[in-house]
Amino acid sequence: MSLPRLFLDYNATSPLLPVAKEAMIAAMDSGNPSSVHSEGRKAKGVLEVARKQISAATKCDPTGVIFTSGGTEAINAALWGMARREKDPVRQIFITDIEHSAVRDTAEAIAATGLVELHILPVTKQGVVDIEAAKAAFAKAEKPFLACVMLANNETGVIQPIADLRQDIFSNGGFLFVDGVQAFGKIEIDFSDLQADLMSVSAHKIGGPKGVGALLTKPGILLAPLMTGGGQELRRRGGTENIIGIAGFGAAAGAVDVAAFAKTKELRDALQTKLQAMDIEGLKIWGDASDRLPNTLCFSAPGFKSDMQVMAMDLEGIAVSAGSACSSGKVAGSKVITAMDASEEEASSTLRVSLGASTTQTDIQRFMDAWAKAYERTMKRRAA
Ligand code: PLP
Repeated sequence: MSLPRLFLDYNATSPLLPVAKEAMIAAMDSGNPSSVHSEGRKAKGVLEVARKQISAATKCDPTGVIFTSGGTEAINAALWGMARREKDPVRQIFITDIEHSAVRDTAEAIAATGLVELHILPVTKQGVVDIEAAKAAFAKAEKPFLACVMLANNETGVIQPIADLRQDIFSNGGFLFVDGVQAFGKIEIDFSDLQADLMSVSAHKIGGPKGVGALLTKPGILLAPLMTGGGQELRRRGGTENIIGIAGFGAAAGAVDVAAFAKTKELRDALQTKLQAMDIEGLKIWGDASDRLPNTLCFSAPGFKSDMQVMAMDLEGIAVSAGSACSSGKVAGSKVITAMDASEEEASSTLRVSLGASTTQTDIQRFMDAWAKAYERTMKRRAA
């Protein structure tokens, strides 16, 4: 009898939570939240409940929550919004070398229009933004500028030292955008305490539906809207809201349990120890000396290509990833790992295993057994 599928790719997406599904089904027949009649008011009620749930889970004032079609739109809204706003548009954008393509490609697209100058901040071999290099760059920046620093990296799980950077950003006339998509639901998020101006979050990483997210904004921050049209979201994002998705997002945010998620660390560490105990020539665990998301393990096993690893595991019924889901279809090595000074061989033999709150010890052992067998088979074939 074949084993059920084993999903170990929670950083790519997470299974829809039953509470989110129920909330979505209940919101299915909603009216238009902008209508003043009772159908509209009822829909508005659903929207505002969800807004409060996101607010409570992120410690962002409810009026600061702008619903979007996902993390990518929230990022676009933040970056384009700051570059195109009427008063004091930013003229320089700084991003770390390990930002998700949603940030990197957007910053590059804005720079290509000539609106801003783009600067890339280097990271250390441990996958952390180089604090001294970043501080030096901010000191020389043209005001006002936008600094984009992700809270946690999607491939390595490495958590970025926002608190060590923000003073230098603010005192030099900069704004801070934090991509919180990967961190939300996995570690405690306190938007007020973080003091960021803007932060992106996404529903599908926390057990909500795909295609919905939010941009969290500090009170008073002015952005040019990415979507013009109706006056929805306090004129900050035109278009009738995706009530069904938003209801699911709110319910998933209400179910965020960071303490329960923290338990994935024990299993992740056990998996890491098992890998290290194997005789793997050149094994690298990325970000192992850094503060990481509890559920994420990213490693390179030279000689065993990423796509081969993913396929071998898939044949065993196990879903893992060759880095970020968006790039896993490509053969090129991981940009994130390359930015951490990896060799070409290391960058093209990377695997990301990301656990969920329901992952068990048995799951970890099953992965380990399947992976070890596939690795040994590959090495034998290479030696023959
Ligand atoms: N930022 C990070 C760090 C991510 O990991 C992702 C998705 O993988 C995104 C942004 C994009 O979010 P979405 O899939 O909601 O557009």
